[in-house]
Amino acid sequence: RAVLRRFLDARFPPQRARGGRSRLVVLAGPTAVGKGTVAGYIKEHHPEILLSVSATTRPARPGEIDGEHYYFVDDAEFDRLIETDQLLEHATVHNKYRYGTPRGPIEAALQAGRTVLLEIDLQGARQVRAAEPSATLVFLLPPSWDELVQRLVGRGTEGAEERARRLRTAKRELAAQHEFDFRVVNEDVASAAREVVESVQVPSR
Ligand code: 5GP
Repeated sequence: RAVLRRFLDARFPPQRARGGRSRLVVLAGPTAVGKGTVAGYIKEHHPEILLSVSATTRPARPGEIDGEHYYFVDDAEFDRLIETDQLLEHATVHNKYRYGTPRGPIEAALQAGRTVLLEIDLQGARQVRAAEPSATLVFLLPPSWDELVQRLVGRGTEGAEERARRLRTAKRELAAQHEFDFRVVNEDVASAAREVVESVQVPSR
């Protein structure tokens, strides 16, 4: 982490946003809260912002495109990415598959003065914060716990066991929301996306 810190310090200082926060924005929040939808909305409406594409060992879901939604890799390739220091952060999510943020595209975008959005889990958010304290951390909240459960059941992408696992993780994640600079309730995608984008410009803490 110390090495990563020095690396980021050396490269990213010119990209600090107003208020001393950097243009590296982390969007985290519990399962099914709509992080992907909000991130997708931002990608569509703010092409100037780079939405980072993560690497994962999870198999692709129907409709997911390699290189667009994720880079789908096997365990050996993921190990190689870690060993060659190509990931800014990485974590095993929901005790199952591994996910990580490729360092190269982010570095290039920040150097070009672009804002970069990472849609990652709490463990990843903490790693980014440790490495780059000026990163802007945004926590996306559901309007209520019941609404979160409804959304998870409604999207129907997980079986009962996986849903229970994700809800346990969600409880832990919700308890950590105070670690974030901003909390945004995802009542409506467009408003939530606007609040996330505005958080880059607003000084916090
Ligand atoms: P899903 O499998 O539903 O696409 O994503 C599961 C979880 O992995 C989500 O909470 C998502 O934010 C998280 N995730 C996706 N990419 C990354 C990443 O690069 N790093 C970390 N730490 N978490 C990620």
